[in-house]
Amino acid sequence: MILSERGAIRTSIAEGGFHLYPAGRFLDYIREALTGDDLKGNFDPVRTIEKIKAVSLPQEEHIRFIFEKDFTLLCSRLQEQDAEYRIEAVFAKMAENLPAMAKRYYGIDGFEPLTPKIVEYYFEGHNDLYKNADWFAFNVNEAESRELQVPVGTYFKRDQVSPASTEFAVLHEANHAMQERAALPPGVHHYVPWLDEGTADIFGRMMLFATTQNENLLHKIKIFRTEIEVTDPRKVTYHYGEETVALLLLRGRLPLIKALFKARKESPYDIDWNHLASAIKHGIDPHIAIINAYRGSKKDAFQKRLERDETAFRKESDFNQGDLRILSMFLATQAPATLPAPEYRAALWLSEEALKEPSPYFLDPLAIPEGLRSQVTDWKADAPLLISQIPGTILKKVPGIKTKIVLPKEVVPESFRAGADSLANNYFIIKRRIGDQEVLEPYGGGLPYRLGSCELRCAW
Ligand SMILES: [Zn+2]
Repeated sequence: MILSERGAIRTSIAEGGFHLYPAGRFLDYIREALTGDDLKGNFDPVRTIEKIKAVSLPQEEHIRFIFEKDFTLLCSRLQEQDAEYRIEAVFAKMAENLPAMAKRYYGIDGFEPLTPKIVEYYFEGHNDLYKNADWFAFNVNEAESRELQVPVGTYFKRDQVSPASTEFAVLHEANHAMQERAALPPGVHHYVPWLDEGTADIFGRMMLFATTQNENLLHKIKIFRTEIEVTDPRKVTYHYGEETVALLLLRGRLPLIKALFKARKESPYDIDWNHLASAIKHGIDPHIAIINAYRGSKKDAFQKRLERDETAFRKESDFNQGDLRILSMFLATQAPATLPAPEYRAALWLSEEALKEPSPYFLDPLAIPEGLRSQVTDWKADAPLLISQIPGTILKKVPGIKTKIVLPKEVVPESFRAGADSLANNYFIIKRRIGDQEVLEPYGGGLPYRLGSCELRCAW
């Protein structure tokens, strides 16, 4: 199949490495700039890049500078992106592995995966009821199949297909089908968003890796979550629920959730699911939280049965190291801190200057170890030392000495001064006095580290 322009842009953003946060906003920015073009057309590297390069840049000087850096990165990614995407081969491989996954994570025998279908619109070939819907995917269950006259299965709108997130969506939806079998009384529609969506997301990722062994897909869906989905309020509520499931799984692992699903299948209305979620979220052990959330009349019997089931499920599979890695990998998705563009730009400048080779700047004199100070001409405790005057042997002997670099305050260009001041006032860098010189110490507040680890990004 041929990717749409928005699908190609999304997957390029999901490679990560952008300054602006969240990078997913690029898509909205481009779409707004190209009034009347929603980027649903076919992707063609040359034509698409040409088109988006025509968008007008932000007005403000600092944000424009950062924007251009990111935009260049985005265009270079698009240049390497193939328009043709053979998603069917990935689907086939996943389908082959799904019965074993259903057994492992839900204890289901004989699970029959359905091959997802790529359609031009919903529900092409069946009815036009939702022809204008722009959903990412639609999973038709038994009840909907009867109602809509559309075969059961997962459908993707071609212009929404985005490599990595589409494969993940297939497994997310397959999890809902597994939940229907493992956790619900036959024919009953019972939806607990935090539990159903959270489990589908978490197990979906474990299954994605288990079925493809593709680290890049995991990497991409992680960035999808932190950079693209954050601009979608509905998806963000899934994330909140997913944390609750992660807490449940970290403590109870597979045996407990299987026991909980079994209890739900027997009687979904005996458990107060909201109470359960908030107790787990507050840090109560899930075993205790489940009993406290029971609203039926046979609490003792319920508790005994849950314990017995959990013990029995311990004889089956549990998470392996790979599962736990993926579980914890997606817990670390706090949004980064953001700086306003003038500050971010000053931060970039300071950190680039600090790494400049050969360095035209100074060193804190106290960084020179006492025994070596006699080798430095004119060493003084109260005067910054010009780096170019320090013997190379000392610089080599003391690794990391350059993290004590200081820049005279007056070298900061006029347009970055306000930003640098603000960075110092927030302690991202340190403003100091050595002798009668006022200097800035970029590593003092760890600024280059914070930028390097992407803890700090530029707001827009
Ligand atoms: Zn879902």
